[in-house]
Amino acid sequence: MRDIGPSPVRLSWLATRQLQVWIWCEGCSHHKSLPVAPLLEKFGDVALLALKAHFQCAACGGREVFLRPDWHRAGWTQGVVSRHEKLPD
Ligand SMILES: [Zn+2]
Repeated sequence: MRDIGPSPVRLSWLATRQLQVWIWCEGCSHHKSLPVAPLLEKFGDVALLALKAHFQCAACGGREVFLRPDWHRAGWTQGVVSRHEKLPD
């Protein structure tokens, strides 16, 4: 739980930055990205963490899903995670 800061990410925050929501299933690693607009319409401007209870894995039916901003798709990670690419073989 160390990644949770004092200001949880809200849907409006993602929409402003044109980020999608990235969902990962802890059970089977199934994952996908969802656009924020329909979620905002359905749930309102809630915190990303609060959405967890509304999702269930489409592949295995598991409810242990993990949500976070889709930094990668948005290109935010370019040049940021490079140190992870230099692990020895
Ligand atoms: Zn699953």
